[in-house]
Amino acid sequence: AKTAKSWEKKADKKIARAAVLGAGIMGGGIAYQSSLKGVPIKMKDIAQEGLDLGLSEANKLLSKRVSRGRMTADKMGEVLNNIDPTLTYEGFDSVDIVVEAVVENPKVKHAVLAETEKHISPDAVLASNTSTISIDFLAEALERPENFCGMHFFNPVHAMPLVEVIRGAKTSDTAIARTVAYANRMGKKAVVVNDCPGFLVNRVLFPYFDGFSKLVRDGADFQAVDKVMERWGWPMGPAYLSDVVGIDTGVHAAGVMAEGFPDRMKMDFKTATETMYENDRLGQKNGKGFYEYV
Ligand code: NAD
Repeated sequence: AKTAKSWEKKADKKIARAAVLGAGIMGGGIAYQSSLKGVPIKMKDIAQEGLDLGLSEANKLLSKRVSRGRMTADKMGEVLNNIDPTLTYEGFDSVDIVVEAVVENPKVKHAVLAETEKHISPDAVLASNTSTISIDFLAEALERPENFCGMHFFNPVHAMPLVEVIRGAKTSDTAIARTVAYANRMGKKAVVVNDCPGFLVNRVLFPYFDGFSKLVRDGADFQAVDKVMERWGWPMGPAYLSDVVGIDTGVHAAGVMAEGFPDRMKMDFKTATETMYENDRLGQKNGKGFYEYV
């Protein structure tokens, strides 16, 4: 297997301009990190509300840096200016990479990716930040699958060092090399992995969530489980992590994993997370999940 460094060496050109689709938890974070590291980025959403949220998150993170003396106010202005919020595809024809970070729904992603491909240069890389959906499956919507790969960031984007770059059956070396170089430029550690539902990290993480769901079904108190995991040394337990990820995203991703690995990952009961979703408790994003947030 090639290392990220040797992939980067193969990158034939630098990513100078980027775009991200979706200004939610992940899209907003990707826009912030890209701009912070000097790559201007367009941030597209379908709702002005989404764009406002993405920008206000970036604003919060930058203000913290300034108040800690780690950044000047001028630099903060520059970073914010290099995030270009938009509700249209205007200017997408001049970007080198587009990272799709819309909802974890295969149908929505197929439609969004096919639409985006029409607005970008034939040479641009199109990448998906999907948590679980197979890259080969997503590529079925595309006319240029060779330019397509996964670019899977972790939450919160500014703090988590890893990015999985996922290679589909038709992904070209060029697309992988440019995506690895962009991840490195963003200050991340890229790892190139093969395609399957959940890729590498979520193949490990989702059985853990399933174990948590079974414990709760069997009567365990979710707060007690969280406390034990924290005492064990993890930064947070599974219930709190579910709230951070987004209950909706977690439920959709669990569905993809169950479909991909039905013998091991299909739950034969309704999980606490699914009940939460039915009751519109989406986690930190709407202030209520396993826990309440004010
Ligand atoms: P989110 O719900 O916070 O944000 C999704 C955003 O996409 C919303 O602002 C929505 O308005 C926008 N959107 C929906 N349809 C769109 C379209 N057609 N065009 C442009 N924008 C559109 O979701 P999120 O947590 O940021 O997740 C986004 C993606 O990232 C998902 O695929 C998810 O699996 C993946 N991901 C999430 C996490 C996490 O911890 N939340 C971690 C890694 C990867």
